[in-house]
Amino acid sequence: MNALGELLQNVPSWVSVQDRQKESAIVLAAPPGVGSAASSGFWLRLEESQHGGIAVSEVQDKRQLPAFCLERHINPDSTFCVFFRSEHPMQAPEGFKAWWSHLGVYLNNQKYASKRGIWPLGSGLSHGEAAHVQVAMEELADPLGWKDDLWQAMFRGKGWLAQRLPRISKRRDRVLNARSPCPRGCTWKHKLLRKGSCHTSVCDQGCGRLHKPILRADCPNRAVIENLVLLENERQRIEARIIDDLRSEGKKCCGTMKRCPLREQ
Ligand SMILES: [Zn+2]
Ligand SMILES: [Zn+2]
Ligand SMILES: [Zn+2]
Repeated sequence: MNALGELLQNVPSWVSVQDRQKESAIVLAAPPGVGSAASSGFWLRLEESQHGGIAVSEVQDKRQLPAFCLERHINPDSTFCVFFRSEHPMQAPEGFKAWWSHLGVYLNNQKYASKRGIWPLGSGLSHGEAAHVQVAMEELADPLGWKDDLWQAMFRGKGWLAQRLPRISKRRDRVLNARSPCPRGCTWKHKLLRKGSCHTSVCDQGCGRLHKPILRADCPNRAVIENLVLLENERQRIEARIIDDLRSEGKKCCGTMKRCPLREQ
């Protein structure tokens, strides 16, 4: 059986198959959270992708979403970027079940985006190959509890990683000038808290003293900080290239999101 056939054999209860052709199918999808099928379900076309998996898009004359929106993970050809490599082949049967449940989350995210003009923070994914870089950054940040630093920077334009980053070497393999303050803004705390200076922003209760910045060279997490800086640099470069390409193809912002790099010029 082909990928489409297998996928249709594993449909969850919130999906009803409306039409089945050899190479494509139309389904009505209303995952829990988006409302009833009749009023707010999504009419979706499934077909084999060029990668040997499944591509999904909205049926054109029943569209509720923009035909293209980078920020909402709708590709220029209107197919959905449901999750990282969602158009690639899947492992049966877990892969097919997981694909549907990811689609359910994705459609809920779309409802959220329609309402608020932002993509939910925990679901954010960098575009194209930049997604690999994001995954590497999350692996570095996770043990320190810094994942929110990444997400705030990547998807909300906030915090130290979204500000001007320390300069890096020409070959982009080294962060320069280690005797400047740690870019994360860590400061030395009072004795008891000194060891964790980099992890906490609060000091002893009632402490009104100014806390000296930690130089990057002295930061207990120097290696992680520097790797994050290098990777964020790389991630921004990849995304900038994607945006440039889309611009030169004449692609425009759909106007439904609060922040969109295709609008900010
Ligand atoms: Zn848009
Ligand atoms: Zn203090
Ligand atoms: Zn630090």
